[in-house]
Amino acid sequence: MTTIAFLGLGHMGGPMAANLVKAGHRVIGFDPAPAALDAARSAGVEIAPDAVTAVGDVDTVITMLPTGAHVISAYSGEGDTAGLLASAKPDTLFVDCSTIAVDEARQAHDLAVAAGHRAADAPVSGGVVGAEKGTLAFMVGASDDDFATLQPLFEVMGGRIVHCGGSGLGQAAKVCNNMILGISQIAVAEAFVLGERLGLSHQALFDVASNASGQCWALTTNCPVPGPVSTSPANNNYEPGFAGALMSKDLGLAESAIDLTGVDAQLGRHAREIYRAYADGDGARQDFSGIINTIRAQSATTDA
Ligand code: NAD
Repeated sequence: MTTIAFLGLGHMGGPMAANLVKAGHRVIGFDPAPAALDAARSAGVEIAPDAVTAVGDVDTVITMLPTGAHVISAYSGEGDTAGLLASAKPDTLFVDCSTIAVDEARQAHDLAVAAGHRAADAPVSGGVVGAEKGTLAFMVGASDDDFATLQPLFEVMGGRIVHCGGSGLGQAAKVCNNMILGISQIAVAEAFVLGERLGLSHQALFDVASNASGQCWALTTNCPVPGPVSTSPANNNYEPGFAGALMSKDLGLAESAIDLTGVDAQLGRHAREIYRAYADGDGARQDFSGIINTIRAQSATTDA
């Protein structure tokens, strides 16, 4: 049994913490949102009066917070408020599972090490359903030793666990994957709208592309038109799935990484702009495959 502090008991963190409890671990949690605390308490999480008390005597601290700024300020504290790093016993293992920028993950790691602790980044994919079912994919940036220590915990919360390398490389893998996803979802949506304009049925395009070189997850799982894949969000009025707001956030992190490295990633930047506009409107709460409706609405009307 490991004693774990779990900070951030929201949509993802709540069920992840609950799965750790179910597996027999002692989990001490905190979240400033009362509803999150109530749900975690009823799942068997011990509730601490505040975050710094939660981390005082544990082996591992897991954070699942909205942004990198939340993680850095939780680690370091703000003003007169002590941070988690100053409140944990020496050599505590800090694991951040939030989706944050690669440079923020490295900063968090360096702060933890400077304070006498160990640190890893372990962002996830699989959404709320994966968090509830314990089938998340973990992308881990950690030393070999820390990865070996953490693997049994990841196996409780996840299905596929990949050790991507050292500090920051879990976030690097996540950002690269989601950049592929954002670009490919737009590409598939554009192809369906083009097919419509050319008189091609959705099913015919699907039958060809899903068995040809256009095959990809955005087509065969998250097909942006209703019909060909009965479980895709398009069949359910674009209920997420993976909300446009989250895709916009993740492409913003990709853009930060592109800026940092100077890579000529023109499609990554363009996808970021497209999803930023989508998330500024109704798309924030719709599945990101709903971008097809924007493309259709913005397409010129011609007689072609
Ligand atoms: P959420 O907003 O539901 O949960 C975040 C929680 O953190 C909130 O309950 C908030 O009150 C709490 N919090 C904020 N500051 C805190 C602090 N200092 N101490 C303790 N708790 C604090 O968000 P979520 O959907 O659970 O996402 C969490 C992270 O997981 C994000 O980085 C997100 O990008 C990533 N993620 C989300 C999904 C998804 O489908 N929701 C999928 C993959 C990754």
